[in-house]
Amino acid sequence: MIHAFSKIDFNVNNAGKFLVAAAFLSMTFNTVLLSAAKTGDFLKPVPITAVKIEDSFWSPKLAVCRQSTVPHSWKYIEGNIKTLKKIAGLGTEPGRTGLWTEANLHKFIETIAYSLALQPDPILEKRLDEIVTILAAAQRPDGYIHAHVIINNLKPWGNLYHQHDGYVAGHLYEAAVALFQVTGKTTLLDVACRSADQACRHFLDQGNPGFPGHAEMELALVQLYRATGKKRYLHLAQTFIERRGKHGAHDCPRFACNYFQDHLPIRQQKEITGHAVRAVFFASGVADVALETAEADMLGAAKRLWNSATKRKMYITGSVGASRKHEAFSDDYVLPNNGYCESCAACGLADFAHRMLMLQADAQCADVLERVLYNAILHGISLDGKSFYYRNPLTDRDHPRGNNWCCCPPNLSRTILKVGSYIYARSQTEIYVNLYIAGTAKIPLPGNTVTLTQQTQYPWAGKVKILVSPRSEGRFSINLRIPGWCQKTQLKINGVEVEHFPIRKGYAHLQRKWNSKDVIELDFQMPVQLFEAHPNVTQNRGLVAIQRGPIVYGIEGLDNNENLDITLAIDPQFRIEHLPDFLGGVTVVKGKSDQARSFLANPFYALANRKNSSQRVWLPQAGKKETHAGCEDKLYRALAPSTLTP
Ligand SMILES: [Zn+2]
Repeated sequence: MIHAFSKIDFNVNNAGKFLVAAAFLSMTFNTVLLSAAKTGDFLKPVPITAVKIEDSFWSPKLAVCRQSTVPHSWKYIEGNIKTLKKIAGLGTEPGRTGLWTEANLHKFIETIAYSLALQPDPILEKRLDEIVTILAAAQRPDGYIHAHVIINNLKPWGNLYHQHDGYVAGHLYEAAVALFQVTGKTTLLDVACRSADQACRHFLDQGNPGFPGHAEMELALVQLYRATGKKRYLHLAQTFIERRGKHGAHDCPRFACNYFQDHLPIRQQKEITGHAVRAVFFASGVADVALETAEADMLGAAKRLWNSATKRKMYITGSVGASRKHEAFSDDYVLPNNGYCESCAACGLADFAHRMLMLQADAQCADVLERVLYNAILHGISLDGKSFYYRNPLTDRDHPRGNNWCCCPPNLSRTILKVGSYIYARSQTEIYVNLYIAGTAKIPLPGNTVTLTQQTQYPWAGKVKILVSPRSEGRFSINLRIPGWCQKTQLKINGVEVEHFPIRKGYAHLQRKWNSKDVIELDFQMPVQLFEAHPNVTQNRGLVAIQRGPIVYGIEGLDNNENLDITLAIDPQFRIEHLPDFLGGVTVVKGKSDQARSFLANPFYALANRKNSSQRVWLPQAGKKETHAGCEDKLYRALAPSTLTP
């Protein structure tokens, strides 16, 4: 049903028409969602194994991750391997473990799987095989596997809210599915299935109540279901979601129920709340179950959580989880610039955005995905790939990166290395281009295979060329995302400008007969833009943020005489300069303050990579006026020049 909308004639320069069309589509979509959605309506990602990235922005970052982050990471998971060896009778001394640290091993295995997808490496693969052998040997005969619990004689699935059995198991399942998809090997998938079978017996057959307190297993069980076809895994995922909000007396007085997303039954949950990482992982699980069942209530819940997260509780960098207390989502519009902003929550939001994109085929979801990838997530990892941020606040002072392997580092590396899986999607008969990253993809359609080759300097320039090469000439649709930040787009097909092209939920919808010599050219106008936050974000009243394309900028003391008290001039006279040898190759923004002082702004993701520094994203601007008009549904909007005092 998602694809049943007729074409809407649309001129991208006419914002008014767009708003009307968007409102209509949104209204219509809600109705459709709640009435007659079918699983076949939803998009499917084009997997990482079908995508080759050859991109001047991403390829160097992926190489750093493969060549620097992966070798650097081994020492942080040695303790988990030693403990597993001890349990398996393959070693004498256990290593250090913790309730949740074993998930780091699993996230690292997933990282290596994506690394192998990008670049085969027999030595690395052999080392990974050895770890998988140890994991299989350490698994209990009944299938349970959580080394910390086993070595300390704790009760499996005991202290359900805090023991992290489900969090650790879920990351094992994600790693196993990734490794299976990339290498075809089933040893770890078998370990994951034996573990999931044990969980199904415990929670479903034996009737033990409750759900694991740190969401993750839900989304992972759905992935395991997709890989194996075993429906019980989907059933257990849905059971964990539906057990929320139905307890009697809560047995965990230290935390409010919403910490575990346990405050209300899912069908009554209206906002994303509680511990931010748990909340976004939970929301991804809800979206996954909706993708597999098309159940109207689950679809509605996923959409409510999405709107709550992205329209009222997200930073301009894509970070979420403002509150240090309980590492939680805050109330609507409470987004202090020194907020908590954990890297894991950003990674979780990227995956939630991807799932919502599959559910809704709406470019707004890809806009969020792009925002969090290019800003919060890349900010979490240093340019050399060897140090990390747990927190990613928008103002910071001398807060160094480090190696806090509590949870974030392998989450960042696995998310960055799987960026290829976010770029394309397909419906039953159509292709979607969600992100602009140079390289090639092979996309199956009924009776055809279409090879798309992207050439672009994105995100530093807005021109994108796409070579279309179907195996055989045929009529099908290619949907190209018009980024939400872009206010003027030029589109050419085979060198001829298409002045009026239909837009469907933020995608240029090109339906025609394609043959192997066809070339699409997009030119997204990419000026330096000033964004303002919704006036309800009181912390940012009177302030603006600099953005160009998808890249949010910040100023850093190192480049600005250690003085960040800068008020932008009414006309900051922005200039850009691409510096290939600075901060790994970035386009910087230069401008003027109201005191005619020059300043330099760098991409937010690249801040704090030279030495300790102060940083700031939101800045005052001389003459800025506040207006609520037109803000209704937008948390951030590009500032129109007319709102400035002349
Ligand atoms: Zn984390």
